[in-house]
Amino acid sequence: MSETLLARHRAALPSWLALYYDEPIEIVSGRGRHVTDADGNEYLDFFAGVLTNAIGYDIPEISDAIRRQVDTGVLHTSTLYLIRKQVELAERIGELSGMQNPKVFFTNSGTEANETALMLATQYRRSHQVLALRNSYHGRGFGALGVTGNRGWSASALSPFQVSYVQGSYRYRSPFRDLSDADYIAACVDDLREVIETTTSGDVACLIAEPIQGVGGFATPPDGLLGAFAEVLEEHGILLISDEVQTGWGRTGEHFWGIQAHGVTPAAMTFAKGLGNGLAIGGVVAEAELMDCLTANSISTFGGNPVATGGALAALEYLLDHDLQGNAAKLGGRLLEGLRTHAERCALIGDVRGKGLMIGVELVEPGTRTPAAAAAGRVMELAKQRGLLVGKGGLYGNVLRLAPPMTLTEDEAEQALHVLIETTTQAEQELHR
Ligand code: PMP
Repeated sequence: MSETLLARHRAALPSWLALYYDEPIEIVSGRGRHVTDADGNEYLDFFAGVLTNAIGYDIPEISDAIRRQVDTGVLHTSTLYLIRKQVELAERIGELSGMQNPKVFFTNSGTEANETALMLATQYRRSHQVLALRNSYHGRGFGALGVTGNRGWSASALSPFQVSYVQGSYRYRSPFRDLSDADYIAACVDDLREVIETTTSGDVACLIAEPIQGVGGFATPPDGLLGAFAEVLEEHGILLISDEVQTGWGRTGEHFWGIQAHGVTPAAMTFAKGLGNGLAIGGVVAEAELMDCLTANSISTFGGNPVATGGALAALEYLLDHDLQGNAAKLGGRLLEGLRTHAERCALIGDVRGKGLMIGVELVEPGTRTPAAAAAGRVMELAKQRGLLVGKGGLYGNVLRLAPPMTLTEDEAEQALHVLIETTTQAEQELHR
């Protein structure tokens, strides 16, 4: 690690910009699923940036598509002109959306995507009342922050909306956790009804939900929960927005979009992160009637630029051509099984959850449900020393987040599993000292 760069980072950048590790690393190159830091250390990246590098590093098909655009001399002009790749990507995402008459708007981030979806829903429904799930994260704009049910990330308390939060995804710490799947869903549906009846006028614009909560520690609700919610929402004309920023593009293995596990097609889906395999791109796909409800002009200067959309189109085709969703299902299943077996012996692990290559390992004080945040930090450090980068999250910062690039190989999955078993075992032993 470069001491000088860290000192300069601290002096030049905000104090609230979180950095991982006691000795933060500077990644200078990457290939496949591996990255190399400035000191020449190589790591297996089991967080894919933060799910940004959905496919992997240095993929020629994607780099070439970006290079071809750069070689034209035009990085971007303006979205006021026609951009061929933007149209092609919108058509492709529309086809994949499962919606009847889809339209796509491109942004530069997940935050802007959610701001846009919230803008559409509140405008369409002419209501500023919004529902969100507890333990959610939707970004750092005023709208997106307003629907973020995680105080550790709610940097500002100001919201343009009247927001009510419902139970749902974080089953491990839910009062309904011991119920069967069907009863858990029924209890959450009752809670939703009660929240609508007691905290809103009934005239609510939308409910926004992540099918698996990302920042919230890969909190995974039972399949069908959001579908059951949708039935209640429909009674009130409330729109469902699925935030697919982490769960999109086949990451959950069994489906292309996370919401598909719930048997419902939402009014809008938002996306970002993995789509560009590292490029800054996000967007919203929605039924045309909703998308076209804005009457004033609205534009994103860089949203849909030719470099981002050209690169994303190449990434999307790569992902589909190589059945990376299938790979996520297969290797994710193997990892989940291995971690669950290990959890039976390792009392530091309270919960192993997730789908595909989106796996959360919640650490607790052995024999309790008390969050063990320090142990999560310790496991991260130990894993890093053994050449494995993993993420962290959850309301209490005690959940390890595993989300490698979806080109992961079997050997790499085994290697990571081995390191995770060793490091959680060591962290647990250290607690007893
Ligand atoms: N939604 C979800 C589910 C996210 O995980 C994130 C980012 N962690 C965002 C929205 C915000 O995306 P961005 O940081 O690109 O603005």
